[in-house]
Amino acid sequence: MDHLISPLSPTNRWWSEETTAVVTGANKGIGFAVVKRLLELGLTVVLTARNAENGIQAADSLRLTGFRNVHFCCLDISDPSSIAAFASWFRHNFGVLDILVNNAAVSFNAVGENLIKEPDTIIKTNFYGPKLLTEALLPLFRRSDSVSRILNMSSRLGTLNKLRSPSIRRILESEDLTNEQIDATVTQFLQDVKSGTWEKQGWPENWPDYAISKMALNAYSRVLARRYDGKKLSVNCLCPGFTRTSMTGGQGTHTADEAAATVAKLVLIPQEKLTSGKFYICLEPKKIIAKL
Ligand code: NDP
Repeated sequence: MDHLISPLSPTNRWWSEETTAVVTGANKGIGFAVVKRLLELGLTVVLTARNAENGIQAADSLRLTGFRNVHFCCLDISDPSSIAAFASWFRHNFGVLDILVNNAAVSFNAVGENLIKEPDTIIKTNFYGPKLLTEALLPLFRRSDSVSRILNMSSRLGTLNKLRSPSIRRILESEDLTNEQIDATVTQFLQDVKSGTWEKQGWPENWPDYAISKMALNAYSRVLARRYDGKKLSVNCLCPGFTRTSMTGGQGTHTADEAAATVAKLVLIPQEKLTSGKFYICLEPKKIIAKL
């Protein structure tokens, strides 16, 4: 997949400052770094955050370093009314969208800890959040010849080989997978957690609730990619690799800026090299592989 990370040379440049990207959970971590990278490359970027004060501060810090095309809007992806308000604000202020990076997510485990603490919040934030936001913004994608792009930030913890149950795996692997089946799988997981039986059912062992949220997001991305096949909208997932942010307690093999450089390269791939329905893993900043 080396071609994916070829330099963003001027000849590959299909975008301009009219090209608009939205990044969720962008007050810090990889999200903030992605906003900065896209601004450096000359796009217009809407930085969103659930906490207005943190979001405004983050956007102001970028403006202070000279970026004019950064905008802020509050967005809590776990709250459907916040998503609806954001979609309406975006439609009113921008009208069309080119790139959506669904980055915001939560985990309540430290690295090496595999407890299930707030499964409902994790599923609501990491799976239903990006799904609802995507559905709300779908009518606004430009879908011109340069192709609109959705990148869902995922995790290798959510790949299907982490499922120990062959029957659940068969469902999620199916070429005919539906959104109803994905929702039913997630509901089943939450029920198994509530009844205390989840360990026997073959769900992932590492960061289990987080892994299921990302597995569901990957599955939804494949279904969406199929729905928009040939309709000028690409949908992919990326695991940014073990990155030093607050989610990992500052541990990791690389920085948020390095992860963001990969994100930018993936979402800005020239149209002729663009894929859809893929899951990419960034093993190290300059090495990414396609899994699905
Ligand atoms: P951080 O914890 O540093 O940042 C997460 C961001 O998401 C924060 O801005 C946080 O806001 C925001 N957020 C959380 N809940 C919501 C919500 N309900 N609405 C809006 N924003 C919210 O994490 P990373 O930067 O490390 O993670 C970015 C993405 O990369 C995530 O999807 C993560 O799962 C994924 N990832 C990260 C890896 C890593 O090693 N770091 C590895 C694999 C995947 P607030 O500041 O208010 O909490």
